[in-house]
Amino acid sequence: MNNRQKTNKLWMISGTILVILFVSSSAVNSSILPVPTQTTKAMSSPENKENEETAYLKFVSQTLNESNSNNKNSTSGTTQIPEAAKGPPIPAKGYLVQEIRDHLYWVTDGSYNTMFLVTDKGVVAIDAPPSIGKNYLKAIAEVTDKPITYVIYSHAHLDHIGAAGIFPKNATFIAQEETAAELQRATSIAKNASTVPPIPTVTFTKNYTLQIGNQSLKLDYYGVNHLPGNIFIYAPNQKVLMLVDIIFPGWVPFPYLAIAKDTEGFIKAHDIALNNYDFDTIVAGHLTRLGTRNDVIVQKEFVSDLEKAAGKANQEVLFSNIASQVGRFDNPWLIFSKYIDAVNENCVNSMMPKWENKLGGAQQFMSTHCFTMAESGRVDPTVMALLQNSTFVSK
Ligand SMILES: [Zn+2]
Repeated sequence: MNNRQKTNKLWMISGTILVILFVSSSAVNSSILPVPTQTTKAMSSPENKENEETAYLKFVSQTLNESNSNNKNSTSGTTQIPEAAKGPPIPAKGYLVQEIRDHLYWVTDGSYNTMFLVTDKGVVAIDAPPSIGKNYLKAIAEVTDKPITYVIYSHAHLDHIGAAGIFPKNATFIAQEETAAELQRATSIAKNASTVPPIPTVTFTKNYTLQIGNQSLKLDYYGVNHLPGNIFIYAPNQKVLMLVDIIFPGWVPFPYLAIAKDTEGFIKAHDIALNNYDFDTIVAGHLTRLGTRNDVIVQKEFVSDLEKAAGKANQEVLFSNIASQVGRFDNPWLIFSKYIDAVNENCVNSMMPKWENKLGGAQQFMSTHCFTMAESGRVDPTVMALLQNSTFVSK
C-alpha cells in the first residue's frame, strides 16, 4: 500500500467506528429532547423521573411560547427568528386546539404538535407528546364529548407517544409492526413496564386504512427514514399529511438531521411526501406551526443544498493534509477531530449565506447537519452515490 492508500484505509476504518459510536449513542438517547444533566442526576425513582421530565418539557414549551408571543426581535444571542419560523400564540391554558378541516384538529403547546380526527364513532387520537400530556384530553373534550376509540402511533419515540397511557385502555392502538416491536423490546427489559406506552394490538407491514363512516386515515410505511416504523399518516378528505421528525416547518431539523437512523431514507421521505400525497397541510410533530406543501419543498431544497455542500467539503478537505498539519500519528482521533472540524467548517460556510436568515436554528444546528450528511456520504453507499450525483464545485 502506498501512503495515500494507507491514509484512505485508516480513514474508512475510523469512519466506520465513528458511525457506530454515534449510532449507539443516539440509540441510548431515545428521547429527541435532551434532558438536562441536573435532571438526570436527580432521577431517583420513576415518579421523580416523570415529574422532572414533565417539568422540563413544560419549561421548554413555556419558554418557547414567551419568546413567540412577547418578542418580535429580542431573541437571545445575535440571531433573529425568521418570520417563517413563527407560529400562532399559545393561550395561557398551555395549549392551542384548532380545526384544520372537516373534523380534523391539531393541538399544540408551541413546541410539539399532533392531530386528532372526530368521527361519528369516536375520536382517533394520533400520538401523545408528554409535553402536551393531559392537555391533549382537555383539547379533545373542548370540541367533542365522544370517547377516544382509536390511537395511532407515528413512531416509537417517547417524546411523541410517551403520554399514550392517558388514553382509555379499551381503545384500539395501531402502529407499524417495527414500532410495536420496539415497544415490546422496551417492555421486556423495563424494570417498571408501566412507563412504556401501551403496545399496539393492530399492526401492519406496509399499508393500513382506518375507515370510520365517511372519514378515513391512510397509514403507509416505506422503510426506515427517521426511525424504523415511522409512517406517513394521510387524511384524504382533509388533504392533510402527518409526517413526524422529517419536516420542520420554518426551522432547520433537530440536530444531526433529526437523528435520522437512515440518512438516505430521510432524504427520500421528502419526495415520497411530495409525489405520493395530495396535501396542502402537514402536521410535522415539532415546533411552532402547521406546515404547508411549500415547507416540504423548502426543506427538500435545504437538504439538496446540504448534499452538495457536504459532497464539496468531503472532496476539498483532504485527510492527508490534516494529518500532516497535526504532525503526530499516535492519536488517530486527534487527527479525526481536526478533520471533522475542517469538513464541517467548509460545509457550514457553503450553507449559511443562503439559509441563516431563512430557517430558524440554522446558526445553532448547521454543523450537526453538515456532520451527518458528510459522514454518511463517506460511509453509507447510498448516500455516497447521492452526493456523487449532486453537482458541486470540484477541486
Ligand atoms: Zn422521533
